[in-house]
Amino acid sequence: MGTRSVRAFGNTAAIDQSADPASPPGGVMSAEIPAVLRALVQDRARMRCEYCLLHEEDSWQPHQPDHIIAVKHRGPTESANLAWTCTLCNRHKGSDLASIDVNTGRIVRLFHPRRDQWSRHFRLNRGRILARTAVGRVTIFLLQVNRPDRVQIRRVLHDLGLYPR
Ligand SMILES: [Zn+2]
Repeated sequence: MGTRSVRAFGNTAAIDQSADPASPPGGVMSAEIPAVLRALVQDRARMRCEYCLLHEEDSWQPHQPDHIIAVKHRGPTESANLAWTCTLCNRHKGSDLASIDVNTGRIVRLFHPRRDQWSRHFRLNRGRILARTAVGRVTIFLLQVNRPDRVQIRRVLHDLGLYPR
């Protein structure tokens, strides 16, 4: 019982520290992106998510600009570091830069929409996104682009001639 109360006291102290009003909030959310830059990123991507290729008009929610290298890793808010993304790709990616490749157990960086060519790392099979490379594999895994409900939506769009567009 005595040990338990000591532990509880320790936890309380830890919570108090993390709630320090001087520390910056979050860190995962993107910095403010000027409207002009946002429009440039959207146009450049032709309104498609640059990871899963879903067109913004086929999405329930508007797409959003994503810092490819997150602000918390010193990624600048400039066009060379921004990608247009659907909310699901953006949410799953968060501020991550890499993941573990299931085939090799190695840390592999994520697909970089500005530096990498999509078709070099991925290919499509009726709405399903398949990896050509380790970069493709970790990106598909981390962003959960082949979650069954997402594949189903893309498959319906594909059969209607709307994916990719
Ligand atoms: Zn996406």
